[in-house]
Amino acid sequence: MNSTHDPAPRNPDPLDAAPLDAADPLAAYVDRFVPAPGVAAYLDGNSLGRPLRATADRFADFVAGDWGTGLIRSWDDRWMDFPTETGDRIATVVLGSAPGQTVVGDSTTVLLYKAIRATLELGQRQGRHEILLDDDQFPTDRFVIEGIARERGATVRWIRVDPALGVTPSLVRDAVSRDTAVVVVNHVSYRSGFIADLASITRIAHEAGALAVWDLCHSVGVVPFSLDDADVDLAVGCTYKFLNGGPGAPAFLYARADLHPALEQPIQGWMGAADVFEMASTFEPASGIRRFLSGTPPIVGMLAMNDMLDLLDEVGLESVRAKSLALTDYAFALSDALLAPLGVVAATPREHRIRASHVTLRHEAFRATLPALWAGGVVPDFRNPDALRLGLSPLSTTFAEVRTGVEAIVEALRGRLEP
Ligand SMILES: *Cc1c(COP(=O)(O)O)cnc(C)c1O
Repeated sequence: MNSTHDPAPRNPDPLDAAPLDAADPLAAYVDRFVPAPGVAAYLDGNSLGRPLRATADRFADFVAGDWGTGLIRSWDDRWMDFPTETGDRIATVVLGSAPGQTVVGDSTTVLLYKAIRATLELGQRQGRHEILLDDDQFPTDRFVIEGIARERGATVRWIRVDPALGVTPSLVRDAVSRDTAVVVVNHVSYRSGFIADLASITRIAHEAGALAVWDLCHSVGVVPFSLDDADVDLAVGCTYKFLNGGPGAPAFLYARADLHPALEQPIQGWMGAADVFEMASTFEPASGIRRFLSGTPPIVGMLAMNDMLDLLDEVGLESVRAKSLALTDYAFALSDALLAPLGVVAATPREHRIRASHVTLRHEAFRATLPALWAGGVVPDFRNPDALRLGLSPLSTTFAEVRTGVEAIVEALRGRLEP
């Protein structure tokens, strides 16, 4: 045997991306997305998902067809029901919930306002005046809650959490009381990527006689769960992150069916009325989830998310979750080998059970590295004061991209650290 012709590979690189991409059963789906020339590594799928090729076709068809030819008739034919039809599609594919409980409407912020205010009012009727939240929540959640509390004479009770994790059942148990009207929880921490315990925290809220409102922005479409099984009361989530609905795509609101008759949302408008075209002299809310609509629904904004929902339905959320964990495992391995020696700290839980689809890395020089990274087509996102988040959207991200991205971060960081 002539060993010089066929040498055994010497020290194969244990962090090589190629074998991981070759073995990835979902690798082919990357081609379903619109190519992004000049982008070497898109690591911000948790802030803005990439567009699908199918969406480009859907937009063109929509302009020529439903809008261009159907004109105003399309409201009767399909658009009036589009917010609840799309809501049902979201419910079935990614919320693990039965139809009739989800509607697509305004921005996340506005729907949080509607959901939290409606729930608070239910609690206030029973003499409960506290909104419970934690200090790790996304700014808009905290701002909306403080505004509602001011409007309604309610009290905000804060839970302090470990920023490398997030809110836990025991922290909630210690903070709920007979004064709690509503507990607001971010399912996944936008900072650490920690997954909060949907079912346990909801149960603890219920045991205290309170309701739970969940913000699903960073979990929907990438972490499997069932709102129905967890007995969740209300939930709101983004569609432009892992649901690829496009910039400013409207959010969805879920409300458990048995609560509908009691929930009065604060922006009552004609589109949430029992009979939209009756042009009645007084407001009578629609009987079901439609009552959460206010004005004319943003139909154009709901188009793209339907393509991603089709794709998620085709692939299955469990497979998406498996790739998400493989990608974040790989990001950790690269970071441990290449970034930790430069003083970078990973601020995301390593345990699969409580880890969503982004990895947060911290270093005080990260802010200064961002312009060079973006200029080189490496796009992570930065969060004050010192965090880079690698947001790995499973169907549009390759292992090679993660490697390219981390290597570029190493280079940019070295450039800042060396004199
Ligand atoms: C992205 C995000 C939002 C965004 O709210 P908008 O009204 O869509 O701007 C809200 N909450 C969380 C947890 C988020 O991650």
